[in-house]
Amino acid sequence: MSGPVPSGGSGGLAAQAPAAPPFSAGPFVAMVVDEVTDYQRGILRGVEDELADTGTPVLVTVNHPRTGQDEDFLVRLLERGRVAALVVTAVQYHQLGQVLCSRALALGVPVVTISRRSPGTANVDADNAGAVRELMAHLIDECGARRPALLRGVHDSPDSAVREQAFRAALAERGMEVDEDLVLDGSYHREAAHRAVTALLARRRDLDAVVAANDAMAHGALDALRMAGLSVPGDVLVTGFDDLPESREGGLSLTTVDPGLHEQGRAAVRALRAQATGTGGTEDVRVPAVVVRRGSTRRGAAPVALPAGGERGAVARLDQDHLLEITRAFAGCSSLEELVDELAAHVPRLGVRSCFLVLLEEREDAAPAARVALAYARGAVSTGSAVFGNDELLPPEQLALLGRRAVIRTLAAGPRQHGYLLLEPGAGDRSRMLDLLQVDLTRALDALARERRLQEHAVELERVVALRTRQLEQEVAVRREAESRLRRANAELERIAMRDPLTGLANRRALDAALAERWERAARGDDPLGLVICDVDHFKGYNDRYGHPAGDECLRAVATALAAVAVRPGDVSARHGGEEFAVLLPATDERGTAHVARLLLAGVRALGIEHAGSPRASVSVSAGWAVARPARGGTVQDLVDAADRALYEAKLTGRDRAVGAEAVGVGVGDAVEVARPAR
Ligand code: GH3
Ligand code: MG
Ligand code: MG
Repeated sequence: MSGPVPSGGSGGLAAQAPAAPPFSAGPFVAMVVDEVTDYQRGILRGVEDELADTGTPVLVTVNHPRTGQDEDFLVRLLERGRVAALVVTAVQYHQLGQVLCSRALALGVPVVTISRRSPGTANVDADNAGAVRELMAHLIDECGARRPALLRGVHDSPDSAVREQAFRAALAERGMEVDEDLVLDGSYHREAAHRAVTALLARRRDLDAVVAANDAMAHGALDALRMAGLSVPGDVLVTGFDDLPESREGGLSLTTVDPGLHEQGRAAVRALRAQATGTGGTEDVRVPAVVVRRGSTRRGAAPVALPAGGERGAVARLDQDHLLEITRAFAGCSSLEELVDELAAHVPRLGVRSCFLVLLEEREDAAPAARVALAYARGAVSTGSAVFGNDELLPPEQLALLGRRAVIRTLAAGPRQHGYLLLEPGAGDRSRMLDLLQVDLTRALDALARERRLQEHAVELERVVALRTRQLEQEVAVRREAESRLRRANAELERIAMRDPLTGLANRRALDAALAERWERAARGDDPLGLVICDVDHFKGYNDRYGHPAGDECLRAVATALAAVAVRPGDVSARHGGEEFAVLLPATDERGTAHVARLLLAGVRALGIEHAGSPRASVSVSAGWAVARPARGGTVQDLVDAADRALYEAKLTGRDRAVGAEAVGVGVGDAVEVARPAR
């Protein structure tokens, strides 16, 4: 056998001196049930009594498919060596029980099943067949029943099957046929049995006995017979099985079978002890079951009263009112703190001796953290959040406050385990109430967790949106920056494309563009447009004499003289090509243009650049100028040609002078006088 042997596993069961205080000493006996009714309580009492000499505590876990986390929870406790021994009484939801049983067997933890067996386990049960045989003898041979109906239990329950077999065998032994129409299903529940019998009575009323596979169904049958106007035992005999306390209370007097529940519990502990000490305990135990003859089968007895009502009903009503209050309070809670406060307000009225609410908190990479959110013991409630190692059920000092028997109610919905209620039941039957409290609390915790998850989700969404927004903003900024750089680069390219690299003046392209643009504008405003073209005199000779680099330097100097005369907004000074320059003068008439041409000549002379090959021994230019009035006709080319012709004239007539062209334009009335050479 593999896995850890529970620390003190045998000690918890076999120690002779009582261990004290309960639950602080270590391992406990876990009893797994799928509900808490008188049946389970009967067995539990036997378990506790048999354990009394050791003081070993008992933890009852209510195993239900809706809260299937019990399984994981107990498996964890088993694996940590906290469970000294396991008693599984899973009648309905036995698959869950089987998981626990096989885990316990694998870990070497003593395990006993009661009623329904799990593979490989020692099984304790009542002698069902013997009891039913005796019961049928009583009904048929003593009471004269001839047409008994059978109420079967949960359809795949072995107990129910054995009881049904014994029922059929008893009829067969007596040569009686089983009327299959009288074989009913009641799934061990009072309401289901009530429905089945009511339906039967609607068809036929010739039955003379109802043999129910448990007391709860017998009670349902009694309800149905009574409502159909039939009397028990006058018209119909009724028997149950289990001998529940209510079968002999409040005027009810049900013939039933005492299955020795207390003895079953004791036998289970004896078997566990034997397993723990290696001295057996692996055989099945059949506990004798005894027929208890009461009024429901005694011919001539007083009619059996309708079960339930009276005191039980009053208590139930009180519980219901309180539960409704709790349900409402829990449903109105919007935070965990409020929920815990509400539980704190109601816990003193739950009828439990102590109660601890343990909440488990999911952690990213570790086992969930356990904290005690509420502690109720010795009449005092405290809320808070003591965190403790989740290998334990509770912190040791609080464990010590639990009595000998603790009931654990896990608070889980679907795959999500919120925590558990660990409580010590008080006197009286509060299990129904605890069932509902468990459901209410689980639902409230689940709603809060869902809300928390939604909030976390919303926060996460906001975070993602903010992050994305930041990224987009950055992207936009980067794109803007790139665009602006591109614009600057384009502008620079444009500038470069429109500039003469040597002089920095507008180049030929830029001059053409400016000419076209200024021409249009002048045409709109009927303004004159002046143009001066100049050319360095004897520049070939200059280059030859002083070298090409000096020639370049000279051209740059001439450019500055040009820029110095074209100073009004809109004026453009350009290198026309080679050693030829142009100045475009918007809104400038003949006088103005001639003036600029003269200033230009003077400016170049003033540079005083030595030119030994020139008649005046310094660099000079010749200029031709013209003025157009675009509104009155002509083209840009006309203007350029006119200025060119004038320049040619200036060269022909001796250089170092400015010559004005005739008026530019075709069909223009006011001719302009040719300007005097500007010398
Ligand atoms: P004119 O007085 O009739 O204008 O005579 P010129 O020698 O100035 O005229 P020509 O057209 O014979 O010579 C122009 C010279 O200008 C020829 C060429 O080498 C020179 N040139 C043109 N562009 C540049 C330039 O960018 N740098 C230099 N250093 N020389 C240039
Ligand atoms: Mg030239
Ligand atoms: Mg020249």
